[in-house]
Amino acid sequence: VHPTAVRRPYPIVVQSENTSYSDEYITSKFTNRGADVAINDGQFIVTPTTKPYEFQTVRKVSKTGLMLIGMGGNNGTTLCATILANRHNISWHTKSGIQQPNYIGSLLRASTVRLGSEPSTGKDVHVPVSDVLPMVHPNDLVLGGWDISGASMDQAMRRAEVLDWDLQRQVDPHMAALGSPLPSIYYPDFIAANQEARADNVIPGKDKQEHLERIRADIRKFKADNQLDRVVIFWTANTERYSEIIPGVNDTADNVLNAIKTSHSEVSPSTVFAVAAILEGEPFVNGAPQNTFVPGVIQLAEREKSFIGGDDLKSGQTKLKSVFAEFLVNAGIKPLSIASYNHLGNNDGHNLSAEPQFKSKEISKSSVVDDMVAANPLLFKRPDVNAKKGTKEAKGEHPDHIVVIKYVPAVGDSKRAIDEYYSEIFCGGRSTINIFNECEDSLLATPLILDLTILTELLTRVKYRDASNSTEFAPLYPVLSLLSYMLKAPLVKPGTDVVNSLNRQRNALESFLKACIGLEGSSDLLLETRIW
Ligand code: NAD
Repeated sequence: VHPTAVRRPYPIVVQSENTSYSDEYITSKFTNRGADVAINDGQFIVTPTTKPYEFQTVRKVSKTGLMLIGMGGNNGTTLCATILANRHNISWHTKSGIQQPNYIGSLLRASTVRLGSEPSTGKDVHVPVSDVLPMVHPNDLVLGGWDISGASMDQAMRRAEVLDWDLQRQVDPHMAALGSPLPSIYYPDFIAANQEARADNVIPGKDKQEHLERIRADIRKFKADNQLDRVVIFWTANTERYSEIIPGVNDTADNVLNAIKTSHSEVSPSTVFAVAAILEGEPFVNGAPQNTFVPGVIQLAEREKSFIGGDDLKSGQTKLKSVFAEFLVNAGIKPLSIASYNHLGNNDGHNLSAEPQFKSKEISKSSVVDDMVAANPLLFKRPDVNAKKGTKEAKGEHPDHIVVIKYVPAVGDSKRAIDEYYSEIFCGGRSTINIFNECEDSLLATPLILDLTILTELLTRVKYRDASNSTEFAPLYPVLSLLSYMLKAPLVKPGTDVVNSLNRQRNALESFLKACIGLEGSSDLLLETRIW
């Protein structure tokens, strides 16, 4: 941030014919540049393409509520307590001194983008990401939600054993004022049996349609009671097992709605919540790895033009992997195997110690290097479509990749992750790099939940149109793949490729935010520094 910058309601003003401001909107013109590539007899024929768009962003930030499913868990209580500490400016004593509350770890509130350079000095000018467009401040989020455990929020915070005692002590009355989470939906088959003892706050009965209506009513009441414009519904409850995809049950929007009506056993609690949010026209984000978004739910979101995002928070090991694997492959080094071990001792770890729930996590963690490998056929042979099915040639080359997670109660919320990258280097050489990563899980996850919530609210205020024919402005496509940076297994528009690279994901987000104010995406060309 420029040291002389004065805080104004709209800190950035773009002076250009591409950008216009009204009381209601920021409108920008943007040219989407790409290239069509035809491969002709081994030759690449490239045709640059341009397509003009306009973006329109509502300037007034919605009064936003955040309803957490799993509010009484480690992430839920840590998120509420740290927002309250920031809101009430509570500082606390630790063994090494006084700690102020902050939002470190949030891409939006603790990182910057480069706007350009100052002409007189040539020095770069950076601004907080949260200044590029009007965004909700985390302190202003209205908090609520559900949990199958009825512990009051102050008790639940103590149970989580995440925050320093002096912070817990001071934030306690504010947490107590949040009361207990709303009763939730509990279908024991979907989470580990070891969670049963917590389930003392459940909506009675087995009728899934009634459950859906109850959750919809909860959302409406929360919205009305707090006079909110927008509610983001966020799954931070236990990881569920995968739902089986059954034709006629969860493959289309109508089938999912019908499966809920008939209380089909393969409809998970998270799917009921997602459907409730979609039907209420409020965005739903899945912070856990299970396949909440069965094909029918995605279709329902498309039909209702309601926003969804997921899956699984990308907090530690996978975040690093999405940087490190790309670094190796882009450096021309060939990873032969990536072996990842985790152990943790919180309730999430306890739930993941059951095989079906671990399986969900394993799937979510497994595909993170796929796109980087596919981008480099010099190192990794592509699948040969003419080869015999099941052979090595038919599958193509890929590094061996394993993920192990073990529950070790003693380490509590402090997750340990060990990764070995074993690679082929020049002329048959080998390189082994080991990374040991130790961190409080919930302190990594909380800023991601905030970023996802704030970005989601923003994306509900952005509309676009094709500038070549000046059609009406329309909302973005319902699956918010721009959230990918914070998600381990990003959900994308069906039929499009997943981008796992953290750098590319950040670049996409930064370019999009800039496009909405009429600026080109970041270029590191810096031509002026390379010519006379
Ligand atoms: P946690 O076990 O402490 O909290 C989960 C809460 O969900 C519990 O309070 C539980 O009672 C509640 N719950 C379970 N089923 C429910 C239901 N049907 N409705 C409402 N509440 C329900 O776990 P956590 O550490 O807070 O993690 C939450 C989720 O986030 C997990 O699925 C985890 O895998 C995922 N996640 C966490 C991280 C991280 O870094 N902390 C990273 C990625 C994903």
